[in-house]
Amino acid sequence: MKSHVLGFPRIGSKRELKFALEAFWKQKITQSELEATASNLRKTNWQIQHNAGLDYVCTGDFSFYDQILDMSITLGVIPERFQQSAPLDLQEYFKLARGDAENNIPAMEMTKWFNTNYHYIVPEISTCTTPRLNAERLISQTKEAIALGFNPKPVIVGPLTYLSLSKGDGGYDVWEKLPEVLAVYCQLLKELAPYCQWIQIDEPILCADVSAQVRKEFAPTYERIVAAAGECNTMLATYFDNLDDNLDLAVSSGCSALHIDLVRGQEQLGRVLAQLPETMLLSVGIVDGRNIWKTDYVRALKVLEKLSAELGSERLWVGSSCSLLHTPVDLLNEVKLDPEIRSWLAFAVQKCHEIKFLSMALAASGDDSELRENIAAIASRRNSSRVHNPQVKERLDKITPEMLQRQSPYAQRKEEKDRPVLPEFPTTTIGSFPQTKEIRQQRLAFKKGEIGEAEYNEFIKDQIGMIVRKQEELGLDVLVHGEPERNDMVEYFGQQLAGFCFTDFGWVQSYGSRCVKPPVIFGDISRPAAMTVEWLTYAQSLTDKPLKGMLTGPVTILCWSFIRDDLPRETVCKQLALAIRDEVLDLEQAGIRIIQIDEAALSEGMPVKQREHGVYLEWAVDAFRLATTGVTDSTQIHTHMCYSKFNTIIESIAAMDADVISIESSRSKMRLLDCFRDFEYPNEIGPGVWDIHSPRIPSTEEIISLLKRACEYIPRERIWVNPDCGLKTRDWPETIASITNMVAAAKALRTQE
Ligand code: GLN
Ligand code: ZN
Repeated sequence: MKSHVLGFPRIGSKRELKFALEAFWKQKITQSELEATASNLRKTNWQIQHNAGLDYVCTGDFSFYDQILDMSITLGVIPERFQQSAPLDLQEYFKLARGDAENNIPAMEMTKWFNTNYHYIVPEISTCTTPRLNAERLISQTKEAIALGFNPKPVIVGPLTYLSLSKGDGGYDVWEKLPEVLAVYCQLLKELAPYCQWIQIDEPILCADVSAQVRKEFAPTYERIVAAAGECNTMLATYFDNLDDNLDLAVSSGCSALHIDLVRGQEQLGRVLAQLPETMLLSVGIVDGRNIWKTDYVRALKVLEKLSAELGSERLWVGSSCSLLHTPVDLLNEVKLDPEIRSWLAFAVQKCHEIKFLSMALAASGDDSELRENIAAIASRRNSSRVHNPQVKERLDKITPEMLQRQSPYAQRKEEKDRPVLPEFPTTTIGSFPQTKEIRQQRLAFKKGEIGEAEYNEFIKDQIGMIVRKQEELGLDVLVHGEPERNDMVEYFGQQLAGFCFTDFGWVQSYGSRCVKPPVIFGDISRPAAMTVEWLTYAQSLTDKPLKGMLTGPVTILCWSFIRDDLPRETVCKQLALAIRDEVLDLEQAGIRIIQIDEAALSEGMPVKQREHGVYLEWAVDAFRLATTGVTDSTQIHTHMCYSKFNTIIESIAAMDADVISIESSRSKMRLLDCFRDFEYPNEIGPGVWDIHSPRIPSTEEIISLLKRACEYIPRERIWVNPDCGLKTRDWPETIASITNMVAAAKALRTQE
């Protein structure tokens, strides 16, 4: 059995690429220094795959920013506004991704790569686009691997996924460019073929909802692709789900091999075997490319045994389910992690070994120490009392339908006499205030033990005091404490909940040089003690205005963590919801009458296939309700989401039954409100009037006109005035200027009919 991965993380085990990129952008290192870092990383990554004993190493999976952007450049698909044609030098390349501030040219758009937390740069295609091959990057990296003695397998994203993810300028139909794009693909394959035995062509779109166009174009496209590759073998790589209705396309592609995801698409195996033509090899992605748990060898080997009996081991490859881009690099760095938990984990380096082991195990005889070790680790995790908490299970079983309902419907709640009294167009913010250098320094000093807890807490108190005073001066109606004690909206809560642990170097690329370090949920979740009550009641004690308490919602914590693979997502989410519910009730008890539960990631958790969205939304909304509906009618529940594409989920958002929701909308000039034309949102809403992603200060007039537009869709007595997200990335002068204008706009509107 051959073995391979679909791609390797490129950021480096200590985020070397991130630091080099950022130094280059600040002109602290030269281009050749950046290139040296890159070539070292590529070499290290190949060495890891090679040393593990994998049969091939991936090439073309390295990128200075994003692999889809790289593909655009390979194809010569560059937006006209940059007035560039490939090849681009590095400076020009980064302008596409990050914008050209000097000439005021906006960056290309970025969006999420299927349902991962990785973001790719969206290709832009217009009538004027003239695709032209620029194979330099792929060929030189492949030659580089050969020169170092490795066996390269170039990886490219396939034409149908590429075009499906592209956007047409001004309504242009990107499929009109398929013939030209395909011609460039064919040329690319011809040029690459002499350097390798295999080329991996990624078509994850086949596991999502494909358009009728893709179905129609698939067969003729792949006929040409396969012909262009000539003697070189092609592997059609699919991942993130099962192939389902597109299996017929995949098996008739004419490619030399098909890769399927057996982690997220286990159930497809029988059908694939039944339909796989004899001319095709099968690569099975049995090691999870998106999570951090050790593979259960015994289970995996059972599958492989059956497969090799049916196909013969020559027709079988073992691989990662998808690219390892979505996992951290090397577990060996985690010296501080609890040894028992560490024994349950595998990062990218370890996953390469697992894949090799699995590909050999059936044929191997003799030393079975690695297998025994794996069996012991899997058993220890399965039986550990740190993973299983019977009390949590018991509480879950006792959830009743009443626990998902507020006492009265919104219409009645809003009449409640004990509610905080607020003017028309109440003004508020989303939670965080500028996280200044001083705050970051103090937090670091505390973490390093340079200052004690008492001193740190004093510092946080001072910050809260200052932030509350500033808001009073600015004349905001509903105040917040500013979140100075929080580093991150998920980590802060994870650190206080049982069932979570944290790595030191478990970084995963999110986009460009930005990496995230998701917490690891390894066990049943419970809340040993209140998490936010002290800070929030302190803040409330400083003011007579109502203070809004801030929590992160269960769905967002779930989506931004590595989660257990031994429980359904839905169950983990319910556990989180119960913990947040307890916190909400403690806050209410302590006199906090307005509580906001952020669900920034609600739409990120959506499955790749549309027809599964309904089921997901149902349990996600239930989790939010479980977390929030324990309060009395006079407590006001807020939620916040920072994206505007929710036309399709507006009904689910309404079903969350928050009294108030704040959402992004200023960037889209309230276009988002279009969806309220067809759907009458029943509760209160704060459409963001200040785009906090940009340093621009919105004027009072501009805010007034945005709010007037909002009034066309939503009755004025249900409109709030707020920015579109938290202010932690902004500085104080902009914050003060923008809030001043916001408050002035609200006041002006109150006097107008
Ligand atoms: N309350 C958080 C903040 O203000 C919300 C952040 C977010 O939506 N991403 O920072
Ligand atoms: Zn937000």
